[in-house]
Amino acid sequence: MTMLKPGDTIGILGGGQLARMMALAAAPLGLDCHVYAPEADSPAFPVAAARTCAGYGDHEALAAFAAAVSVVTYEFENVPADTAAFLASRVPVLPGPRALATTQDRLVEKTFVNDIGLATPAFRAVVSLAELQAAVAELGRPSVLKTRRFGYDGKGQVIVRPGMDLEEAWSTVGGHPSILEAFVPFALEVSVVAARSADGTVSAFDVCENQHRHHILATTRVPAGIGPATEHACKEHAARIAAALDYVGVLAVEFFVLRDAGGEHVLVNEIAPRVHNSGHWTIEGAQTSQFEQHMRAVAGWPLGCVRRTGRVEMANLVGDEVEAWRKIVATPGSHLHLYGKREARPGRKMGHVTRITPE
Ligand code: AMP
Repeated sequence: MTMLKPGDTIGILGGGQLARMMALAAAPLGLDCHVYAPEADSPAFPVAAARTCAGYGDHEALAAFAAAVSVVTYEFENVPADTAAFLASRVPVLPGPRALATTQDRLVEKTFVNDIGLATPAFRAVVSLAELQAAVAELGRPSVLKTRRFGYDGKGQVIVRPGMDLEEAWSTVGGHPSILEAFVPFALEVSVVAARSADGTVSAFDVCENQHRHHILATTRVPAGIGPATEHACKEHAARIAAALDYVGVLAVEFFVLRDAGGEHVLVNEIAPRVHNSGHWTIEGAQTSQFEQHMRAVAGWPLGCVRRTGRVEMANLVGDEVEAWRKIVATPGSHLHLYGKREARPGRKMGHVTRITPE
């Protein structure tokens, strides 16, 4: 892989807050970002060095974009396979096609995770009501029915509770190919944000403890309330996943932490082939942010130092929680990040705030 030089341009597919924070992190490194997104009001457009507003199927626009950049990366895992292939025939796309194909489909992803020797919740593939009935008979209730593709922030999933009509559950996921997962009585949810460079070096940030509200990440705390062996296992699992995917860039791995008489152990919940909301704390809370780390990796540069700068708490500002910005901006030590979204719809991530306490 070639090493980008200052003045070179990184193309980013998707124009949301993740692309915005990538472009902001690239600038001090002397790298420009060209953001490609279909929405005219994309949060990343105002901070990008160049922008293309076009659909992901627009081959003319994609060809011009590919010609204008040295490498393409993305802020979301649902990049259409055709778009990725079209671009990859012209310019390097990182992380590569294996990462996208594996993480776009929950069944493929969980099978991959098990194949490399890591544990997930028990699951069954489900393509019909009859298969759902058989899977519920095996895994019991409660269990969680999730569409294989296009699920995020709890969308495309339903908990199959005792007494719930399975026809209703099946129609909730639109009859799409799905998986049924055993319900995990987890003590904590944690994640690891890690990076793998082009030369295969892996570096993981400290494990984050995540709390969700209405299926949307609400807060992240670092260090997580887990033992050192669990911390080590989560980082090792993320490194194993990154190596098996021949990954270049930042990825996040979400885990369920279980506690029983035998101690703590973890199950892999999900892999995100991109920078991740649970890594936003790294902007002020680590010596290198996840966004800079991703820019370094896709540029073919060495990774930065991931050392934490203190105890960290990151809170998302979702919907009208963003109204707290006046108070936050007046609070010494609170780092406010707003994404430039005009309308505060319920469930919409509008910004976040990070606080660091010296250790
Ligand atoms: P996911 O989209 O798979 O990350 O699921 C969103 C959230 O739903 C997770 O962060 C958990 O809080 C919850 N959840 C998902 N799968 C399970 C499961 N098998 N058992 C218990 N809770 C789950």
